[in-house]
Amino acid sequence: MTPYQFSVITIMPELFEPFARTGVFGRAVAAGLLELDLINPRGFTNDVHRTVDDEPFGGGAGMVFKPQPLYHAIKTAGKRNAGPVIYLSPAGRKLDHEQVMRFSSLDGVTLLCGRYEGVDQRIIDHFVDEEISIGDYVLSGGEPAALVFMDAVARQREGVVKEKASVEHDSFYDGLLDHPHYTRPARFDGESVPDVLLSGNHKRIHEWRQKMKLVQTLTRRPDLLETADLTPEQKTWLIEIRNGLKQLL
Ligand code: SAM
Repeated sequence: MTPYQFSVITIMPELFEPFARTGVFGRAVAAGLLELDLINPRGFTNDVHRTVDDEPFGGGAGMVFKPQPLYHAIKTAGKRNAGPVIYLSPAGRKLDHEQVMRFSSLDGVTLLCGRYEGVDQRIIDHFVDEEISIGDYVLSGGEPAALVFMDAVARQREGVVKEKASVEHDSFYDGLLDHPHYTRPARFDGESVPDVLLSGNHKRIHEWRQKMKLVQTLTRRPDLLETADLTPEQKTWLIEIRNGLKQLL
């Protein structure tokens, strides 16, 4: 299988190095399922201070990422990676499960991490294919957003998480939230795990988990139920759960 290629344009490559050696992502890199190419725009500067920022035209607070080093960094990434160039930006489309699945179906992406007040608009207009945000808040740089993006996309690639079923049972995969999980001891802090999980009856356990997914989604993210593709059985359970909750109120 061809490895999925992440090319990351960042002035802080050291933030990615431990990530690429650790946990699920690190194991997948070691197994040749993922490749990480770190490109530092400072490598494309000519001055002694390797300057990548400058004052904004028009004045005002903060600095702006200069276009030239980013241009050369993007061109360098493009020689090794045919995937789209994605600028991590608060102004981008919000990353969600659907977008993660779309990006994971490609062969790779180049992630551009901004800093300062952001990057020169001409780079965004002419050399970026998409802008992606990880939420409605502002980070100091695109690096944490790139790490979130990489982690979410990588775990959808075949073989990255060893047990495929584990990814398929995760929240959002079937449009619903996950069910609660319990492990030993069976009694902790005065509270026992639900009896059904100790019953050894796999059919009942499966049904309980399916119903709990609906309970979790209905109580925490009812908006997801508007688009979830429910089976006839799930629809019947949902009616029962809604009626049960109404009786409780
Ligand atoms: N002045 C910009 C604004 O208000 O939209 C914020 C710049 S921020 C301090 C520096 C960099 O962090 C951005 O260029 C972007 O790459 C990254 N960043 C900040 N918040 C982000 C978010 N929510 N999602 C993705 N990237 C983000």
